[in-house]
Amino acid sequence: MSNNKKYDVVVIGAGPAGYVSAIRCSQLGLKTACVDNWLDEDGEHRLGGTCLNVGCIPSKALLDSSEHFHQVNQEFADHGITVKNVSLDISQMMARKNNISNQLTSGINALFKANKVDLHTGSGQLKINNQIAVTPLDKSKKSYRLDADNVILATGSNPLNIPVAPIDGDKIVDSTGALSFTEVPKRLGVIGAGVIGLELGSVWSRLGSKVILLEAQEEFLPFADRLVASEALRHFGNQGLDIRLGARVTSSSIGKKQITVSYQDGKEQKRIVVDKLLVSVGRTPHTQNLFAPDVDLIIDESGFIDVDEHCRTNLPGVYAIGDVVRGPMLAHKGSEEGVAVAETIVGNNAHINMDLIPSVVYTVPEIAWAGKTEQALLKEEIPFNSGVFPFAANGRAKAMNADIGQVKVLSHAKTDKILGVHIIGPFASEILQAAVVAMEFEGSAEDLARTIFSHPSLSEALHEAALAVDNRAIHAINRKRK
Ligand code: FAD
Ligand code: AMP
Repeated sequence: MSNNKKYDVVVIGAGPAGYVSAIRCSQLGLKTACVDNWLDEDGEHRLGGTCLNVGCIPSKALLDSSEHFHQVNQEFADHGITVKNVSLDISQMMARKNNISNQLTSGINALFKANKVDLHTGSGQLKINNQIAVTPLDKSKKSYRLDADNVILATGSNPLNIPVAPIDGDKIVDSTGALSFTEVPKRLGVIGAGVIGLELGSVWSRLGSKVILLEAQEEFLPFADRLVASEALRHFGNQGLDIRLGARVTSSSIGKKQITVSYQDGKEQKRIVVDKLLVSVGRTPHTQNLFAPDVDLIIDESGFIDVDEHCRTNLPGVYAIGDVVRGPMLAHKGSEEGVAVAETIVGNNAHINMDLIPSVVYTVPEIAWAGKTEQALLKEEIPFNSGVFPFAANGRAKAMNADIGQVKVLSHAKTDKILGVHIIGPFASEILQAAVVAMEFEGSAEDLARTIFSHPSLSEALHEAALAVDNRAIHAINRKRK
């Protein structure tokens, strides 16, 4: 071991939680290092973790490409545009996706340099007394140690494997594999109709696969508002996604050319035969080899590093953020925690509003929500009013040929404080953000109702839904006044 280097902060992991935290620590004047071990398929180190390399960004790149293909084939004619001889170049599609990831990941390298974050490419392991052992990715180099006053663990998560469908990387793949198919599978099976299964199922369905999603739960998108979930299920069905609820996969067998997947549907045992199988049944926190055996870091029963509301672990000066701790596994949640921990370390007040983390499913129509669902309000016996407005009555949505879906605003019956906003429709994620700002400022439905929205815009549907809370939407029939 060579001489130890001393830092105010060492961050382990450079996904959206770790890299953002490292940059903020440096901005606050802390001498900061980040240790990261991500390797791309060519063996090159890349910053950005899951999100930039095999998660948020590449999935959105393919969702966009596949949607263009779908539109050329199915929707352009309605605009009076005829396109003949449409063809698909999957390798170009993948090259575009990889190029976007590479631009963004090298952007983080530049940000690290500009912010004077020292990058150590290698695997970090927490030892006692906040020392970090680094095993360099470059195998010709020796291991060394870093000393740190503060350590931030941000090692993310990995796809969850299930024994009934072990990943072989060829026929049975995880999300990373399904982001890199070299041709369109004729039949694609998807285990798990969660966010990742729906997004990647949509990509390949639009490109021509016959997609069957097997979902163990009876309820579709259980975390979403029922209004939104039931409308989504209907649209996805119309698009040709074959979503089978209450279908628990019990086994799979790989043949020469195809995979047979067996599942339990009530009392019946059924099976499907597919060419590729995507396993998207969730993700699991990554703590393997993260700390030495004599380090008493507490891990909870689900495998997450145990932290308090300030992301402090049980060890002094050791924090943990992102997918490796409790809460939704979302990039923006991890980044917020990263910033908050940096502020906490320098003694600033930092607060993460865990009740207001937006969720998005980037399908068509998009689904986006923040705050409480109607079913949660009913369960918690919180009195509320509800306003709903359909995109079918929104001029911009009509002009875009995207007039499906609706916006729902839920506000407290007494105070009118916005408690939840649920959107299914075009650019739902972008529209939602205005509502999230209003909610962060503890705004009321009346505040949104009195805000001027530009016309024509998709966001006018949010305005009208806020008006509808008080039965005064203009472009829809309101419920009868009592
Ligand atoms: P990660 O991004 O997983 O990064 C962890 C980093 O730590 C990696 O670089 C890893 O190599 C490194 N590391 C691990 N162990 C060590 C070690 N011992 N030493 C050094 N380095 C180590 N979220 C969204 O918010 N929006 C989306 O649209 C979205 N889409 C997604 C689509 C897909 C297909 C997938 C798989 C995920 C998606 N997510 C999305 C989730 C999002 O990617 C994660 O929530 C996010 O990446 C978590 O960030 P993180 O920094 O905690 O961990
Ligand atoms: P998410 O956590 O959003 O990625 O969703 C994963 C989904 O996979 C959940 O809705 C689970 O119910 C589902 N799931 C887990 N195991 C199985 C299984 N064996 N068969 C079918 N669905 C499953």
